[in-house]
Amino acid sequence: MTTGHRYDYDLITLGAGSGGVRASRLAAKYGGRVAVIEASRPGGTCVMRGCVPKKLLVYGAHFANHFEDALGFGWHVSGATHDWGAMIAAKNKELDRLEGIYGRILRDAGANLIAGRGVIADPHTVEVNGKRLTAEKILVAVGGWPAIPDFPGKEHVITSNEALDLPERPKRIVIVGGGYIAVEFAGIFRGLGSEVTLVLRSGQLLRGFDQDVRATLADEIEKQGIKIRRDCVVHSIEKTPKGYSVAFDKSEEMIADGVLYATGRTPNTTTIGLKEAGVKLDKKGAVVVDEWNRSSVESIFAVGDVTDRVNLTPVAINEGRVFAETFFNKTPMTLDYTNIASAVFSQPPVSVVGLTEEQARKDYKVRLFITRFKPMKHTLSGRDERTMMKLVVDKATDRVLGCHMVGEDAPEIIQGLAVALKAGATKAQFDATVGIHPTAAEEFVTMRDPVPEKDPAAAEM
Ligand code: NDP
Repeated sequence: MTTGHRYDYDLITLGAGSGGVRASRLAAKYGGRVAVIEASRPGGTCVMRGCVPKKLLVYGAHFANHFEDALGFGWHVSGATHDWGAMIAAKNKELDRLEGIYGRILRDAGANLIAGRGVIADPHTVEVNGKRLTAEKILVAVGGWPAIPDFPGKEHVITSNEALDLPERPKRIVIVGGGYIAVEFAGIFRGLGSEVTLVLRSGQLLRGFDQDVRATLADEIEKQGIKIRRDCVVHSIEKTPKGYSVAFDKSEEMIADGVLYATGRTPNTTTIGLKEAGVKLDKKGAVVVDEWNRSSVESIFAVGDVTDRVNLTPVAINEGRVFAETFFNKTPMTLDYTNIASAVFSQPPVSVVGLTEEQARKDYKVRLFITRFKPMKHTLSGRDERTMMKLVVDKATDRVLGCHMVGEDAPEIIQGLAVALKAGATKAQFDATVGIHPTAAEEFVTMRDPVPEKDPAAAEM
């Protein structure tokens, strides 16, 4: 194609999602000749099928609580009804706008956006739309896809992809899984009025989160009417005239209008020529990369969910950034994966940064601070909702190792605290910070008394 160059491009990126777009547009800005190949819509999982449409639906679902709470403040909001189709149409219009922006960002940076499915033919060649394109480097940023276990009737289930575009809202929905996606959709559908049953194969939701977060969120969503079936496995699903008949392992069954599986995601690595090119994949099929995002093949790199490290959009974006800085701006950089804050947009939301109590106890002697309270708003609204905040502190250095919150605005609050943790803030510095009154956030700087140690032996340490 281009004369005077050994390859057609300096970089070919597979996937125009969060990681791929950031890497490509920076590489192009720094003078690289870049092509980005996208099989679906520019924007990727986060913008088209994940964070963005999900959060818009979370906002939509919140109004139900706002209307109820308004009464306590003297408002009479009667006759409020919800039009699912109108919400989905508005959401889709916004996604169309964002898709345009993502395409434009790439074009403005000088990258060539190619619609099609790219397959790696060799370490420097990608095939797309029947053509072979060569590049010095190939960046794999193709993300992941919902994983559904095998069982009789799996063809009847939907995933988060379809849940965001259903023609109508299921009145009774079974949601299988207890991770981010399951609890977020449980909140959306419950808020909009559906009967929601959350099916957990284990005893508690949100594996990996702090035990107090997990227990608090479970209590709160149960109060909102979400039914949780614990230690329960779906055996089979049948379509019947009354709805989907969901059979559980203990020979129980229930009828639902929809069954949503949110049982994890798998990297999209099976059909893009990675194995054939010699790229090492792990047990889950994720591309194994080093700290420079380089795979086992020298010219092939990967960022984002396809590497199954920390599967969050801002992480993918930062992986894309450090890749571009390192290889296209002569500024070698790696990403620091410690103290990455995250949020679950459940109702109420969860947000956390740093270590859980359980993780911290493995390496530190800890002091714990926990507060639980009724948010001020609910003194008048009468809603039975409590906020929980927890600090995990290293006894030896006084450094705050973890901040955890379940309650309104948790993600907005924890983002600021993430800066404090990144800066290595101590509990004394939290205490020396004057609060903003009246807020929920001020509780994070006014927790004075540690939780008494349950184990007397531990208390002496
Ligand atoms: P998660 O890995 O978070 O959770 C998977 C859930 O499914 C777990 O509760 C797990 O149970 C359960 N599960 C797994 N296999 C089965 C099975 N065969 N039968 C029944 N239950 C099963 O996955 P998600 O799909 O919720 O989300 C995928 C990823 O997307 C997340 O890890 C996160 O990184 C990202 N994400 C982030 C969001 C955010 O930041 N707000 C929002 C949405 C997604 P068990 O606990 O027993 O293992």
